[in-house]
Amino acid sequence: MQFKKVIGNSGLKQRLIAQVNENRISHAQLFEEREGSGALALALAYAQYINCLQRGDDSCGNCTSCIKFEKLQHPDLHFIFPTATNKEITKNASSSQFFQQWTDLLKTNPYLGLNCWVEALGVDNKQVIINTRDSQDIIQKLSLKSYEALRKIILIWLPEKMNIESSNKLLKTLEEPDANTVLLLITQDIDALLPTILSRVQIIKVAKPNDAEISSGLVDSYHFNPEAAKAASLLCEGNINRALEIANGNEDEDFYITNFQNWMRYCYTANVLDISNWVDAVATIGRERQKNIAEYGLRFFRECLVKNYGSGLNMLHEKEVAFLDKFSPFIHGGNIILLTEAFEDLHNQITRNANPKITFMNLSLNVSKMLRLKAEF
Ligand SMILES: [Zn+2]
Repeated sequence: MQFKKVIGNSGLKQRLIAQVNENRISHAQLFEEREGSGALALALAYAQYINCLQRGDDSCGNCTSCIKFEKLQHPDLHFIFPTATNKEITKNASSSQFFQQWTDLLKTNPYLGLNCWVEALGVDNKQVIINTRDSQDIIQKLSLKSYEALRKIILIWLPEKMNIESSNKLLKTLEEPDANTVLLLITQDIDALLPTILSRVQIIKVAKPNDAEISSGLVDSYHFNPEAAKAASLLCEGNINRALEIANGNEDEDFYITNFQNWMRYCYTANVLDISNWVDAVATIGRERQKNIAEYGLRFFRECLVKNYGSGLNMLHEKEVAFLDKFSPFIHGGNIILLTEAFEDLHNQITRNANPKITFMNLSLNVSKMLRLKAEF
């Protein structure tokens, strides 16, 4: 991937290019982003640039190295990413076993988030992790001489998903740098990384691209028509992955809108049978999507406050507008803190493998009460 194809972050691209040309490439770099800001795409462009045989102000895209990088098939480009067992791979899941799925997905969408990846893996409810076998692979890959590249690249996507044993192995690797290897880590949750890892990497902050950058990127790199690109850029909250889903007419957004609205209706009417049926259904959709419902809820509560107290600049899907009109009067100073804490707690509990039926049921009953609290202005 060339830098010019990566959406947003033009200043950062220039700094990365300068690093290479001034021979200041640090051996371990951590790209920090919020999902969909383009850190993985930038890391790929950077890796390709480091190894390009005819570097200019971008990688050439045509040399033997660039061609292999574009196909994600360079023998010195290694990937480590979270996995879990599925129907085919029933034990000892590791990145190498899912390499094909990974590169297939990455070629179509280098802005992917954890959810798309979990869906591609077909692992439903399971938490994905980078396990010890992966870190053994890193050590083994480090011990090999590079085949042909100027610098061997090991790209670790979401190191926050490492278990403790892998993190410790990674630490060893970071302590004993190899001059011919560049480790590129891409995190979407820097707080979850060990301080000892953070102190051994150069941290590169990747900013959320703005609406205009996303809109023009969707037109230039993905050939969407300008109207669809603009609409997607306004709805995606700076997340390019989301923008692509919206522009592609992905059904996912509908899924969260419909589920959340039904849920809030059942909570408001306190219909226990409806709530219970809804909880049964939502218990089957997998943890990543359950966490998304929590995130969607938090966003929608904020939208309600903006409507009630703010400037009315909501950027909403048409299906959200009618519901917002009816629902927003029930969100106010008397319950917003409780609701926000409850939904953050929902997210944490699901992350910690809590039983989804019990968690969603308890929360539903609490939300029923919270929606009945009087407004305090
Ligand atoms: Zn090249």
